[in-house]
Amino acid sequence: MPEGDSVYRAAARLHETLAGRVLTTADLRVPAHATAGLAGRRVLEVAPRGKHLLTRLEGGLTLHTHLRMDGRWEVYRPGERWAGGPAWQIRAVLGTEEGTAVGYRLPVVELLRTADEQRAVGHLGPDLLGPDWDQAEAVRRLLAHPGRPVAEALLDQRNLAGIGNVYANELCFLAGVTPWTPVGELPRPDRLVERARQLLDANRLRDGHVTTGDTRRGHQHWVYGRAGRPCPRCGTPVLTAQQGTPPQERVAFWCPYCQRGPAPEARSTGARPGPGGGGRRPGR
Ligand SMILES: [Zn+2]
Repeated sequence: MPEGDSVYRAAARLHETLAGRVLTTADLRVPAHATAGLAGRRVLEVAPRGKHLLTRLEGGLTLHTHLRMDGRWEVYRPGERWAGGPAWQIRAVLGTEEGTAVGYRLPVVELLRTADEQRAVGHLGPDLLGPDWDQAEAVRRLLAHPGRPVAEALLDQRNLAGIGNVYANELCFLAGVTPWTPVGELPRPDRLVERARQLLDANRLRDGHVTTGDTRRGHQHWVYGRAGRPCPRCGTPVLTAQQGTPPQERVAFWCPYCQRGPAPEARSTGARPGPGGGGRRPGR
């Protein structure tokens, strides 16, 4: 699951390559849009909205894409070899004279009228990296269902948009509560939301979703991906367990000393998430 800061960076890269330029190639490899004639149109801008990407084109069209678990947009200079995966995984190609954006494994590729963008992203809560960020509204939405486990509420993009599994786990650690703590029992929900915004903002221009302030590999997180290893604050082994029910399940990490609240029976040694930090259940 991508985090909002990764999507923000992807949008910035695409914007730099495409905005203000005329599409010389446009190829949407999804049945509904295979014949959409977009070549010849100018790209106006590429904007992130939570974890969604909106590529706005002249003529009132928007290409809506979402990365979900494995999707990626790569940018190549003219003549550069495309290296993001096998050709059959390519879902979209947008080329200008300066470069080509290639979308791999995109589960959502949807062409809509710019006037209808709300249909695609209207359900989202305040965008943590958006120009219209509204902290009070995000807190209000989070607390609307006070019995909900805090990690689950943070991941629900209708409450606030941009948090994936890394930040959900790390924010629980920073708040001193387990991921299963009812969101209504958070001592300072406003502070948690403010922290979320600060973290995504600090990481919007760099890789790694750093929450500790330490950018060295292996030191970037308090508990995420650290099952069985000592908590950096107190030394207690970090625990891990599955949270949620399929297909929405993911791996939760927490320190049983630093974090108070309900927790299931846990394993102290678990497989670490694979490359990309998807936070999926180990072994799947
Ligand atoms: Zn600890």
